[in-house]
Amino acid sequence: MLGGERMKLPECWSCGHEYSYLQGLGFLFDRKCPNCREKQYVTTRSNYKSALPAGLLVCMPGFALLFLTDMSYPAYVLAVTGLFILSLLILPLLIETSEKQEPLV
Ligand SMILES: [Zn+2]
Repeated sequence: MLGGERMKLPECWSCGHEYSYLQGLGFLFDRKCPNCREKQYVTTRSNYKSALPAGLLVCMPGFALLFLTDMSYPAYVLAVTGLFILSLLILPLLIETSEKQEPLV
């Protein structure tokens, strides 16, 4: 899907600690290595990688649902929320850590 790259959990740039899936989810909120507490930054490349599927997941089926079906608005909101959560769940697999802040784009 993403240029054939293998999805994998992030590794700490400093100590090489490999994140568990749950730690990867935690990374979205607290960007410190659970092992050495070094601050982690996200690479520009992985920002791209994670923004793309998240955007696609939320927007594409969302619009399709709204226009191609006669789904009620509350059901639509529920579906999009579900897709959003789904995209959050794959984010940890797309993170690449960096020791310094990189530009967003
Ligand atoms: Zn570390």
